[in-house]
Amino acid sequence: MKSTDAAWIAGFFEAEGSISISHPKRMVRVRVNTTDLDVMERLDALVPCPSGLRIRPPAQRHHQTQYEWILMRRADILEFVILVMPFLGERRLSKARDCLAFFDVPSPGVPFRPDDHESNIAWVAGLFEGEGCIHAPTSGRGVCLTLKMTDRDIVERLDALFPCPRIGTKLPSQPHHKTQYIWTITKGEEMKSILALISPHFGERRSARARELMAVLENRPGKLKRYGKTHCVHGHEYTPENSYVIPSGANKDARVCRTCRRDYLVIYNSRKRDPS
Ligand SMILES: [Zn+2]
Repeated sequence: MKSTDAAWIAGFFEAEGSISISHPKRMVRVRVNTTDLDVMERLDALVPCPSGLRIRPPAQRHHQTQYEWILMRRADILEFVILVMPFLGERRLSKARDCLAFFDVPSPGVPFRPDDHESNIAWVAGLFEGEGCIHAPTSGRGVCLTLKMTDRDIVERLDALFPCPRIGTKLPSQPHHKTQYIWTITKGEEMKSILALISPHFGERRSARARELMAVLENRPGKLKRYGKTHCVHGHEYTPENSYVIPSGANKDARVCRTCRRDYLVIYNSRKRDPS
């Protein structure tokens, strides 16, 4: 298997998977549950689940159908755990070690994490498939990429690859809940460059969301729209020679028509000379 496929599986497993160990029942289960059939089919194509994908009908009317991918046999579980281990965060890594111990298989020392760029991108894509969210309201307001998890180390690893201004925290509202860590990107150019890297690894549903977000950004009013214009309000063309980009301040990076600016300065200076 390609390192990028293993990384994608590990990212997705980190977001939607679980390892359960029952000592009394002498039983280990490795599961992934999600509502995205296309993503599950991809996982199943890479690591086939011997019993086939299970369909769990929605428990309530507003719920969606869940799909379950499950490994129950020792050999399948060991192969899978060893495959994803190098990418796992602290919490799941310790579960994976427990799982190997359960089967009396020695844990590899510190697992080696392939640190090549492509594997990291694939890992982010898998993680995003599970826990990421692409907000793309057509109004263009509140457009963002966000990912919420209770595993701080995972959110920090994502942030190290794609830095956000600040990792947010949401304290638990109930005693048995955990603190959530929230990574969010709201800058159009950053969202575009991140999606350009990770969306080739997405399944159908997320790819469609990524395209929606790109379309919203293209049509968003404000700075981005100004850049799409070819002429200023007075009809002067925005050629490179005629464009002035404001270097700092509140309107930083905004584009100004040099002809209009010159005309304005002539008026301004003449008023200054002759204040009447
Ligand atoms: Zn102009």
